[in-house]
Amino acid sequence: MRYLLGIVLALSFSLPACAQTKARIILDQADAGMFPQGWVVVPVPESTFLMLRNRKTETAYTDLVGKVTFVRERYILTAPPARLRHTLLHELGHIACNCAIEEAAEHYANTH
Ligand SMILES: [Zn+2]
Repeated sequence: MRYLLGIVLALSFSLPACAQTKARIILDQADAGMFPQGWVVVPVPESTFLMLRNRKTETAYTDLVGKVTFVRERYILTAPPARLRHTLLHELGHIACNCAIEEAAEHYANTH
């Protein structure tokens, strides 16, 4: 019984870590050096993303001052690769225009 409890506890701790690692790998493949050197692109768990995001996004959020792009972990794990790539390009658009204008970011994503 104690042995079984140990397995359950081990699984409950290892599953989120696995999901995070998988999200990191997918994100690294999708990013593939697109972002400027020194820019941090990080997968974030649901609770963190909901705290960090601006209210307009369901997928990713870029902090231009902090030079960091937060990508919703659940989205990384479920989005089709082309969709995830478009999202990253959209965030790159914010970096390119150094602005929060959605149309400018979307134009960048559609033309790269
Ligand atoms: Zn945007």
